[in-house]
Amino acid sequence: MTILVVIVILVVAAFLIAAPLTYTRARARRLGRGERPPSVPPATGGRRPPGRQGPGRQGGPGGPGGTGAPSAPPRPDLRRPPSRPPAPPRPVTAPPPPPVGAPPAPPAEAPEAPEAPPAPPGAAPPAEAPAVPTAAPPAPPAEAAPVEAPPAKPRFRDRLGKARALFSSFLSRTSIDDETWDDLEEALIRADVGVKLTTALLDDLRSRVRSEGITSAPELVEALKEGLKKSLAAADRGLHFEPGVVNVWLFVGVNGVGKTTTIGKIGRQQAAAGRKVVMAAADTFRAAAAEQLELWSERVGADLVRGAEGGDPGAVIFDAVQRAASRGADLVLGDTAGRLHTKVNLMEELKKVRRVAERPPGHLDEVLLVIDATTGQNGLAQARQFADAVGVTGVVLTKLDGTAKGGIAIAIQTELGIPIKLVGLGESADDLTEFDPDEFVDALLAA
Ligand code: GDP
Repeated sequence: MTILVVIVILVVAAFLIAAPLTYTRARARRLGRGERPPSVPPATGGRRPPGRQGPGRQGGPGGPGGTGAPSAPPRPDLRRPPSRPPAPPRPVTAPPPPPVGAPPAPPAEAPEAPEAPPAPPGAAPPAEAPAVPTAAPPAPPAEAAPVEAPPAKPRFRDRLGKARALFSSFLSRTSIDDETWDDLEEALIRADVGVKLTTALLDDLRSRVRSEGITSAPELVEALKEGLKKSLAAADRGLHFEPGVVNVWLFVGVNGVGKTTTIGKIGRQQAAAGRKVVMAAADTFRAAAAEQLELWSERVGADLVRGAEGGDPGAVIFDAVQRAASRGADLVLGDTAGRLHTKVNLMEELKKVRRVAERPPGHLDEVLLVIDATTGQNGLAQARQFADAVGVTGVVLTKLDGTAKGGIAIAIQTELGIPIKLVGLGESADDLTEFDPDEFVDALLAA
């Protein structure tokens, strides 16, 4: 037994001595044939991530613009945490080739991964990798919505260019001679002041020249302005409104003059002034007019009452007044039909509308005749008919911005005795303003 144990020990010892020798010899043989020993895979961080070697790194070793010589793998940066953020993935598809003849596009720069800040000497590496900023940098604070500036009041001076141009020849005169008078006469007639009124104005001016010893053209212009302002003065231009009742303002005039637009503009102004507005679409013959008024009412925040197509316009006004009374509204703006003013039945219809508007709880304060300034003397004829039928309290002269016939304003007031209360100087909501005769005359005759 003892002998057996000794034999086993000897065999094991012999194997332990022989095995390393056999391995060393085999290794020596392989080395002699130039074989490399099996290598250990490189440690993480021994290679730079592929994103760091993007095409933007031209000129660097390994980059497309490099020499192509193999380079030694960079040493691992031990200061960096092992979980360095991966570089963004490269596009899978190659960018399309540049068009023939086009200069080569500059290579896209691969975005740099954020560098980890160097650890202070002696400091232990952080246990956790710094958080990778994946979210986009915070957006700059949103700009505050611009505060809407209060609308600038339209200026006659800016909008009466066409009418003013008629007077340029007269205004360029330096002395008073026959040509000066001719120029002035022509300008007044072309501005649609009317022949009769023009003659009266010139006669008055000639007598002033004689009596006041006016000798220069600028003095003549001043005298003309003074005369025109005087003829337009002394009129009640206010829009009447009685607190505590349902005020009704009716708008009359032929189709296309700007009634509906004017109601929209006035509604906006009145609502802004704190009044509660109901709009009444009493032109039941034109669906488009009611639709247009509906748009304005939405814009203004006003109630709208409209009737059936072809229905009774008086009933629409009646309903609008009732609606206003029940909802505590204090102003009804009534649109009316405007088919040919020469038709007797239209005038009869308007008279009926007027009667309904006068009935309590309604309180008819204004019947405003809307006249399109571009129609010139024709507007005057319309004004007479409407005034006779429904008792107009004032005129809204629209489209003064687009016409040379601004002189009609002078004719309307001096020939009919109806005050111009408002003027339209453009299509936008803010282009309605009160008629200021001094500003109007100064704008018309501005040098
Ligand atoms: P209605 O048929 O009398 O109701 O007329 P609308 O209100 O429908 O207006 C007819 C056209 O005139 C529209 O295109 C308006 O925009 C335009 N309009 C109204 N007032 C003015 C204004 O003062 N100046 C200009 N240039 N256009 C205006």
